[in-house]
Amino acid sequence: MKKKPLIAGNWKMYKTASEAVTLVQTLKAAVHPVMNVEIVICPPFIALSEVSKVLTDTPIELGAQNMYSAPEGAFTGEISPMMLKDVRCRFVILGHSERRQYFKEDNILIHEKVKTALKYSLVPIVCVGETLEEREGKAHFDVVKTQLDECLGNLEKDDIAKVVIAYEPVWAIGTGKTATPDQAEQMHSYIRRLLNERFGKELGVKVPILYGGSVKPDNARSLMEKPNIDGALVGGASLKAETFAQIVREARMAYESGVNA
Ligand code: PEP
Repeated sequence: MKKKPLIAGNWKMYKTASEAVTLVQTLKAAVHPVMNVEIVICPPFIALSEVSKVLTDTPIELGAQNMYSAPEGAFTGEISPMMLKDVRCRFVILGHSERRQYFKEDNILIHEKVKTALKYSLVPIVCVGETLEEREGKAHFDVVKTQLDECLGNLEKDDIAKVVIAYEPVWAIGTGKTATPDQAEQMHSYIRRLLNERFGKELGVKVPILYGGSVKPDNARSLMEKPNIDGALVGGASLKAETFAQIVREARMAYESGVNA
């Protein structure tokens, strides 16, 4: 059966703290009432505390865009899991392709971060996805398999049920090029198979697999209708309250039409 969709907004390095408050207030009204969908907002670190206050007593969850792998220490410029918990973050994006590309994060570091997030009861949204070159070279399945193997590493079975995977083909992020629903579903069903093989079907089916890469109101529904696409990680389109709210509505309609079919 289809899972309730999870729609996460990654605000990247946009919005000052005061702009973030304005955006989240507008967004809160635009998505009301939140039904049959889970919403997560991931503002920049500096805005988390203020955004968290606006989200008190709403079903909208808070997430961070990154985190360091150590619980605390002399790591200048980094943010710890306890700092995120303190401002009521429940989710943390890990291994985003921009972190991999510009900050040289590799699967080993991402695996450490995933373990730390789980230890501190944060839900990691673990990003995987191939570059255009890798897809054109027909290496995309192998690339994603390696990323999953190494980022999830030796996770316990109990832990996998607390992880969210985001498949984000790098060539579709911020480019306006979306994977077609069939292309995305092909990779999502492959990821599902890998999870089932590794952790058993009972757990594998529970892991939400989000799609990310130029999700917009006009493509959200056809993506969300696919059996193994359980939601979306939305970048650019999450920066406008009404656009994000429309994606949320499309995801809800896709879910409700599947449930009532
Ligand atoms: C992202 O940053 O995770 C993302 C998918 O960006 P965009 O929606 O802008 O492609």
